[in-house]
Amino acid sequence: MHPQAKGHKKRVTIVGGARSGIAALKLLHSQEAIVFLSEYSSGSDELVAFLESGSFPYELGGHTEKALDADFIVVSPGVPSTIPLLKEAQQREIPICSEIEVASWYNRAPIVAITGSNGKTTTTRLLGHVFSQSDRKVHVAGNIGNAFSDIALDTRKEDVVVLEVSSFQLDHIHRFRPAVSILLNITPDHLDRYENKFEKYAASKFNIFSNQQKGDALIYNYDDELVRNRVSRLAPSRQLHTYGISQKQELRDGAFLRGDTLVVRLNQAEEILMRKEDLALKGPHNVFNSLAAAMAARVMEIPSLAVRESLSTFEGVAHRLEFVRNLDDVQYVNDSKATNVNAVWYALESFQQQIVLIAGGRDKGNDYSSLVPLVQDKVRVVIALGESAEKVEQELGVHAEQHMLVDSLEQAVQAAHLFAQPGEVVLLSPACASFDMFENYEARGEAFKQAVHNL
Ligand code: ADP
Repeated sequence: MHPQAKGHKKRVTIVGGARSGIAALKLLHSQEAIVFLSEYSSGSDELVAFLESGSFPYELGGHTEKALDADFIVVSPGVPSTIPLLKEAQQREIPICSEIEVASWYNRAPIVAITGSNGKTTTTRLLGHVFSQSDRKVHVAGNIGNAFSDIALDTRKEDVVVLEVSSFQLDHIHRFRPAVSILLNITPDHLDRYENKFEKYAASKFNIFSNQQKGDALIYNYDDELVRNRVSRLAPSRQLHTYGISQKQELRDGAFLRGDTLVVRLNQAEEILMRKEDLALKGPHNVFNSLAAAMAARVMEIPSLAVRESLSTFEGVAHRLEFVRNLDDVQYVNDSKATNVNAVWYALESFQQQIVLIAGGRDKGNDYSSLVPLVQDKVRVVIALGESAEKVEQELGVHAEQHMLVDSLEQAVQAAHLFAQPGEVVLLSPACASFDMFENYEARGEAFKQAVHNL
């Protein structure tokens, strides 16, 4: 059962009063929907102030039967689909929509939607940068800070929307249809929200192209077997244009590496885009992200000269392999956003030098074994902190020359300063969430940078 295309005069319950929930509420309210907000917690001060100044009904501190009195429900990405309210809604066949679904009803511009386990923000920002250097007006939105619902009404058909999309947002789409979708990679993350089933998590990512139609483009990770197989099974019957991204082999349609050169093949024509060393972002994962962004930009007809220039001038994104400081010939790098094992793998791969690694935090059921060979090869010291400190020390630390436990990030930085030798890199790349010690990964990254600047 699909929700009606628009919210006009519809009774809508918004579940979850954080950023995207409020954005959807405002959008629907402005379109004369009859909105009701239901929030499980007692609400942040900001939310309470907003609700008190508004003219619509709401409930805080729990979901009641009132929340089910709706034509459809909009669920915030932070709310698990398994809560009793949503289960009951499904029983009663009340449609459930994600916030991007709602925003897409009002959007007029073609959407380039980016999903994956890692690299979404980097690729979204990179592509936003490419479009911003062109004549085409770009709106960058989604999981990245400003919600799609905040900008949907400002879009025009000649613009483009570059949208970072999480798997939670993809769980409840019905008509959301990107002109170009980008599926970067699928590695285990957030399994706690998918009954610990990787297949379920992967399925929500594949939803990104579930509503795409003939002529739409799908850009996907050719080197990821799971993704490649699924795309080759599903895309042909739907007549999508598919473009692979590969760092391992040349493709008929797609973007790939030939030696140290980035090459794009599109409409049976080959373009030599640029050399790897001219990319602004370093590391093999960023070569991949750059290839994906370049492919999307070319599909959207941005000239390759402009693509090349933008990829070489992009300034990077904070907390993702962010260079902080050089002190005593030691580089300090903040990769606080590396909240899973795969991101750390790429971080370690990105350096030629020996590394002093600071890792640990709230473990999401990590299996660190894939990092062991890299640790043996490149990590001289492991400094472990946070809830998972002992596990990190036992599973990674023992494979390095030296390892130690510390109580705080400041201590970690001081220890790193003490142990790092000239020519080495001190890398914060935790493989874990930050919530055991910090409000979020940004706060952790800021604390790291502060401690580094205090040295
Ligand atoms: P997301 O928005 O998907 O969380 P980010 O761009 O914020 O991704 O990057 C998260 C972490 O993953 C960072 O540590 C970054 O260096 C790393 N990373 C970025 N791109 C990739 C990629 N393509 N594959 C693996 N790791 C990546």
